[in-house]
Amino acid sequence: MSWSLPQQAEDSRDQMTILIGSAVRLLCGEAGVFVVSNEAFDPQSSSEYTLYQISEPALPHLLSYVQEAMQPNSLQPLVVETVPPDLAIQLGLPEDVVEQQGIECCSLAVFDQAGPVGMLHFLRPSTARSCFEPGNELNDTASEGTLRLFIAQLATGLRFALRSQGLVKEQGRLAAIFQHSKEGILTVDNALRIIDFNPAMEDLTGWQESEVLGQFYFKVLHPKDRQGNDLGLQDSPILQAFAGQEVVDREMVICARDGQRFLVSVTASCVRSARGEPMNGILNVRDLTRERQQEEQRSTFISVISHELKTPIAIIKGYASTLADNYAKLDAEGLHSRLVAVEEEADRLDKLVGNLLYASRIQANGLQMDIATLDLERLIRGVVRRFQAKYPDVSITLDISESLPTVMADRERIEEVLQNLLDNAVKYSPRQRAITIGSHATGEEVIVSISDAGMGISLRDQQQIFERFQRVGDPLMQSTPGAGLGLYICRAIVEAHGGRIWVESTLRQGSTFSFSLPREEKAPLPMVVF
Ligand code: ADP
Repeated sequence: MSWSLPQQAEDSRDQMTILIGSAVRLLCGEAGVFVVSNEAFDPQSSSEYTLYQISEPALPHLLSYVQEAMQPNSLQPLVVETVPPDLAIQLGLPEDVVEQQGIECCSLAVFDQAGPVGMLHFLRPSTARSCFEPGNELNDTASEGTLRLFIAQLATGLRFALRSQGLVKEQGRLAAIFQHSKEGILTVDNALRIIDFNPAMEDLTGWQESEVLGQFYFKVLHPKDRQGNDLGLQDSPILQAFAGQEVVDREMVICARDGQRFLVSVTASCVRSARGEPMNGILNVRDLTRERQQEEQRSTFISVISHELKTPIAIIKGYASTLADNYAKLDAEGLHSRLVAVEEEADRLDKLVGNLLYASRIQANGLQMDIATLDLERLIRGVVRRFQAKYPDVSITLDISESLPTVMADRERIEEVLQNLLDNAVKYSPRQRAITIGSHATGEEVIVSISDAGMGISLRDQQQIFERFQRVGDPLMQSTPGAGLGLYICRAIVEAHGGRIWVESTLRQGSTFSFSLPREEKAPLPMVVF
């Protein structure tokens, strides 16, 4: 049975009720309660009382009555007492039976060789005698031996029912772990066919449990070594666990349904029969790709940041030393150009530190927005004017639709987005320095696009570059300065406005970065994120 279909706890409770009900009937009772003994009681799995034809409110009355009465034991397993009529009525027994026949309360000790299982208290008309007792109509020769046989059988049945209650609850707990585990878990039979495939495994591989049940697990996962060579059956982690080998945190590559490969760490274990033969194999699968990405991101962060800080510091130090040693020999122009270089590098440092602070504020959800009506065309023209003054050799073409609607935005933040995208367009277009800025409106939003004819970005890299510290290629080998924070910040700003940002690009031909902002009348309510 699959862990996805745990057995209902009701079933095993019903088993107890059926056993108790038939025992009470066989003993000619009308109603009763079975109380599990302390020795057999397991708070994890069983309830203390199993009622038959007795209501919950009547139970305390019956229990306090039997506590006062004589208790049965293994020497005298059945004790019979006459119940006062008012108590019998209180317990819900029919008035005519109470009046005409009187009611007895019988207590039967249920035990076996392993010890007591519990006590069965039941109510019956005083005239009734069961087939296990002397004086009954059916079996006049009934001896105490027959009653003891009945008790032994009842004890065995009850022990099984209590055990199965425990197993069902245990299965429920295991099923919850299996279902909610963040780690992928699959189990196989001894022919390595899949019998369970948990939701984490479904997420990891893209296969649904119903599609893989009964399949050979190698055919579903296509495990490979880290070099990409198919694993032979002799390297199957489950077979090795069957052979008694320890398989803990072994790294391998598995294939998802769409052919994508993941680096995973697997641990295999084996469930054996009483004779020690392997019955089931269990494979725990942990996705290492994400963990590795995070580790890589951390180490990239440190190397990129140190590299980005070291370069301007080295340049500033170099110029400062030349100035200190040679300032008397330098003419005004020489002096000026060196001071400008120092200033530019200081600006670069300032921008890097600013971006780092910005990124950490975004992470801490502390991006404060000051939203107001914004005329995008005016903003674009202003940014372009300042940009053109900084880069006079770059040709910028404006393609802005007439009567561009206003948007609701934080002017300073959108200016930062435009500046970042323009800086990148220049930075990543080493030869072609022609940029087009377009803007048009749709029914819902205003879209701004910045196109360059630069180096372009491959499709694979396009998916990454909006993430923190993501740069195309090896960040440390790149000649252009940058820490992979600009686009991350742009995306955070645009998304905080309820807009989108995306890129269309062809390698070695150029890129178009676009972002959208909701039109003023469609904008979400002004917000301040802090
Ligand atoms: P930075 O420029 O500081 O590295 P960004 O987040 O602005 O960080 O950009 C991330 C990466 O995206 C850049 O390192 C670069 O590889 C790529 N990229 C950004 N803009 C362009 C562009 N216009 N053309 C080509 N590649 C670009």
